[in-house]
Amino acid sequence: MAFDVNQIISYREMCNEEAQEQLQRGMNFEIRPGYSVVLMSVKPNAPYADRISDDGLAIYYEGHDAPGDKNKQLDQPASNPSGTLTQNGQFIKAIKLAKKTGALPLVKVYEKLQIGIWTYRGLFEITSFQFIERGGRRVYEFEFRITEQDLEAAARQGEFRQIDIEQTRQIPGKVKIAVFKRDHGQCVMCGSADNLHFDHLLPYSKGGTSLKEENIQLLCARHNLQKSAKLDF
Ligand SMILES: [Zn+2]
Repeated sequence: MAFDVNQIISYREMCNEEAQEQLQRGMNFEIRPGYSVVLMSVKPNAPYADRISDDGLAIYYEGHDAPGDKNKQLDQPASNPSGTLTQNGQFIKAIKLAKKTGALPLVKVYEKLQIGIWTYRGLFEITSFQFIERGGRRVYEFEFRITEQDLEAAARQGEFRQIDIEQTRQIPGKVKIAVFKRDHGQCVMCGSADNLHFDHLLPYSKGGTSLKEENIQLLCARHNLQKSAKLDF
């Protein structure tokens, strides 16, 4: 079963969904047929400078350092000394190939909230990359744009489900971490700690923001569904 955007999941649920024993690397090029998986973290000690766009529809994901470059002195490499491509290089190659085929590579993005607790950010198209100056060296920055497509529904023949773009507006990781703490990791309606989602109190379309924790709360699946049903009328 696919996760919802903004659903909160355990590390084990994430690994099971991606059919992996462990997920330890940040960038996992085409770990599954048809898509890659990346992990992000915006905690203060996070190693990479990932960010989201102002409209909440894109993520700018920093490439990864050369192995052992703990002090971040080297330009991020696209290939290994042996000549094989690094994860950066594989993502770049896929973007360049897409310019010919027109089919952009897909990536699923997960974000760490706390040890063992993750949230699903959604399915994105990898649209472009830049090689930019940052901290006295050059790093890759990949642009991921949210798709309006449900991967599993698309994979099932003859079925296509559009995802409500409203629900895919990205919430900054710092806001998510603060909300999770404030709401004690429980649904604000019933106290359930199962199947939690980040919910916008006031939807983006009605002027609500993703950027302030005052407009985000934790809801269980049942209360999240109840609320979206009400908003439809
Ligand atoms: Zn609830």
